[in-house]
Amino acid sequence: RKRILSGVQPTGRPTLGNYLGAMKNWVALQESYDNYFCVVDLHAITVPHDPVELRAATRSMAATYIAAGIDPERATIFVQSHVPAHAELCWLLSCVTPLGWLGRMIQFKEKSRKQGEDVRTGLMTYPVLMAADILLYQADLVPVGEDQKQHLELTRDIADKFNNEFGGKPWKKRGGRGGRVFKVPEVFIPPAGARIMSLQDGTAKMSKSAENDNSRINLTDTPDQIANKIKRCKTDAFDGLEWGNPDRPEATNLLTIYSLCTGKNKDEVLADVGGLRWGGFKPVLTEAVVEHLRPLQTKYGQLMSDVSYIDSVLARGAEAAAATADRTLADARDAMGFVPPF
Ligand code: ATP
Ligand code: MG
Repeated sequence: RKRILSGVQPTGRPTLGNYLGAMKNWVALQESYDNYFCVVDLHAITVPHDPVELRAATRSMAATYIAAGIDPERATIFVQSHVPAHAELCWLLSCVTPLGWLGRMIQFKEKSRKQGEDVRTGLMTYPVLMAADILLYQADLVPVGEDQKQHLELTRDIADKFNNEFGGKPWKKRGGRGGRVFKVPEVFIPPAGARIMSLQDGTAKMSKSAENDNSRINLTDTPDQIANKIKRCKTDAFDGLEWGNPDRPEATNLLTIYSLCTGKNKDEVLADVGGLRWGGFKPVLTEAVVEHLRPLQTKYGQLMSDVSYIDSVLARGAEAAAATADRTLADARDAMGFVPPF
């Protein structure tokens, strides 16, 4: 069985973007793969954070994975910081990764701009930790949104560089994976929903850590909150709705959300709502989003009413994840020439 791995940072409440761009696809893929889904809390501290919020968001993110349809019997669901191998492999890989590669990362440029003078080292080395997350599990496929494509390419480059530098003779003789310590993973970006945009600006990505809560739909928003956010969302002065007009990014974005929430394709969406004005479309869109999220929200409410179940899933997940991760870490340490612990 091929393996997939992915994760979301507990930096706030998960958004419709996280769901349509990532989690929904994990659910669709989980039948045919060996699955690892991680709550990447070590990534959440790369920008200043509140410890109380981090603690709450970590458990709640795990509950969201299950509420979205990830089956804990079929997938290993775990918290990144529970598996120490992530932090250790991150160090080994950071000693292989040229600094110049990190300075080119768009996410670093964007997020560091917001931090002023206080840009933390971890924000720059974030993609190295992400490479460790993926490579530890020898993942074949990593399903993510479009914004993570560059980081995935970097992961592949780091894996290649490590394999070239340390996958040589002594390693091969010891019967490793044909001289290869890490599998070089493929990226999976969904054909639709890979980049859901802000409700306030059709040219900016919807993000759970963005300041303005009206820029996003959180998966836990009530129907009233969803209605209000859609009521206030940015629109334009055109009549009717259309796909792909570069002057109308908001129209394309909201039609995309409508399409993914109703399961209708582009033509069906146009036939359905193309003739509406914004005022007519907004309540229809609200209804579609509310209905699409309803089962997830019901399940989420049940899960959060008894967190002992979540905690048991995470305990089991940490153990299973560590067993896999530790094997790769031991191989990496060995290949680099570390003396095994006595
Ligand atoms: P943050 O603002 O803290 O970075 P985020 O909303 O970008 O939060 P991440 O935890 O960084 O969320 O990303 C989790 C997953 O969700 C990744 O696979 C990412 O590509 C995907 N994702 C994030 N935002 C969107 C979006 N607007 N549309 C589609 N996918 C998204
Ligand atoms: Mg992000």
